[in-house]
Amino acid sequence: MKAIRIHEFGGPEVLRYEEVSDPPLRKDRILVRIRACALNHLDLWVRRGLPGVKLPHILGSDIAGEIADVGEYVTGFEPRQRVLVAPMHFCNHCAKCMAGLQNQCPEFTVLGNLVDGGNCELIAVPPAIAIPIPDGLEFAQAASVPLVFLTAWHMLVTRAGIRQGQTVLVLGGGSGVGSAAIQIAKLFHARVIATAGDSGKLERAAALGADYGIDHYQQKISQEVRRITDKQGVDIVFEHVGAATWEESMKSLKPGGTIVT
Ligand SMILES: [Zn+2]
Repeated sequence: MKAIRIHEFGGPEVLRYEEVSDPPLRKDRILVRIRACALNHLDLWVRRGLPGVKLPHILGSDIAGEIADVGEYVTGFEPRQRVLVAPMHFCNHCAKCMAGLQNQCPEFTVLGNLVDGGNCELIAVPPAIAIPIPDGLEFAQAASVPLVFLTAWHMLVTRAGIRQGQTVLVLGGGSGVGSAAIQIAKLFHARVIATAGDSGKLERAAALGADYGIDHYQQKISQEVRRITDKQGVDIVFEHVGAATWEESMKSLKPGGTIVT
């Protein structure tokens, strides 16, 4: 198959388009013919060099495609079925995996990080991470979903326990994770305040459902939050920036509120 690989760390010039051998289909795996693979900030971090990355390496975490072949032990999938791949690699037999805490598995990593990813034509994955694509989604749309929606869902739903009627401050509402968070918060009938760095991004955040926008370069986040919430503060701060916004995040919370990072 054709693949884009890196043989050394660096800028875009280290990407090489080349022929590599097809991945072998094990009896407990499905072979996916990749039709779309989204770009992600993780690609940049890995390409510049992260500990544990073995070279040569195939980048790409967000994969959508159709099943090319199905291993002998696999049931419930068939060739030509459209699937997206939840970009998680885990052992599937340790105590953490058995408890449904795959992200705490000692072998856990993201496809494209410590294991090869989707910037290629074929990938063999366990059926546990293949998810059928609904008819209404094209491959490119489906490929935009996995990593950012997994992250945002885990933060808002699993960790912060979002509930109807709460107010959520989404930092970086123009980012991939932020735009996913806006849509998930609206799905839970929450009130959303989104921040972004320019008016175009704020307009797109509003189009996704954000009720209020804050330009974080022109306005002070915590002051605007206090004004919008009638001095109450928000129930949840969706924090994925870090040091630059930490203090404003803390000041935007209501007493007993939750900051999730
Ligand atoms: Zn495990």
